[in-house]
Amino acid sequence: MFISYETFAARARELEKTIGEFCSDAGRPASEVKLMAVTKTHPPIAAEYAARYGLPCVGENRVQEAVTKMEAARADIAWELIGHLQSNKAALAVKSFARIQSVDRKKLVTRLNECCERESRTLPILLQVNAGRDSAKFGIPPEEAAGLLEATLEAPRLEVQGLMTIAPLSDNPSVARTTFARLRELRDELQDRYRIALPELSMGMSGDLREAIGEGSTCVRVGSALFGPRHP
Ligand SMILES: *Cc1c(COP(=O)(O)O)cnc(C)c1O
Repeated sequence: MFISYETFAARARELEKTIGEFCSDAGRPASEVKLMAVTKTHPPIAAEYAARYGLPCVGENRVQEAVTKMEAARADIAWELIGHLQSNKAALAVKSFARIQSVDRKKLVTRLNECCERESRTLPILLQVNAGRDSAKFGIPPEEAAGLLEATLEAPRLEVQGLMTIAPLSDNPSVARTTFARLRELRDELQDRYRIALPELSMGMSGDLREAIGEGSTCVRVGSALFGPRHP
């Protein structure tokens, strides 16, 4: 049995309160941090809950799972891809998602731009950076991010809005802190160097929200704190 809407709404309210407290601790207005509901592994109704509650977006990490869910869910909400995207799924991803947060290589930039050309659409994207240098994570190494950004700036159909990262799993919160601080500093460098705005910093999940918000996150991606443990 999946959770009820009432359970979901109570968790979402609690979470918004927690986010508000972390924002005030960091001296930031709570309006700067958007809450994304990560619905991966959960049934389509999870996205309906998020829409009904009024959350701005849901995140999925697999293209096919997301598309099946989009068709089943009656949810007027923005779907974003937050997981690794294989080039052969780029066309379907471009047809399906409002934004892709996991752009991590030049080949994918080229491919996405071609697919957008075919669909006559522009695609908002984030560049996924492996800011924690975690061999278990996707994402471009920080020192290669400038090159990837240059490629996206030459792709007329892609609109790069910022950066995304996933912190390495660790019991020590300073690992996440350092990772998020590095992403923010990298964003600042890229903004200065290319004279563009990269306002979005997508960082923070259920277990590291305080660290992410303290380091400037504008989009937290929360799954288990809203929906419970992932269904395998
Ligand atoms: C699963 C996932 C999340 C959410 O993780 P929780 O710990 O369940 O909050 C966030 N971001 C990405 C990229 C994910 O794959």
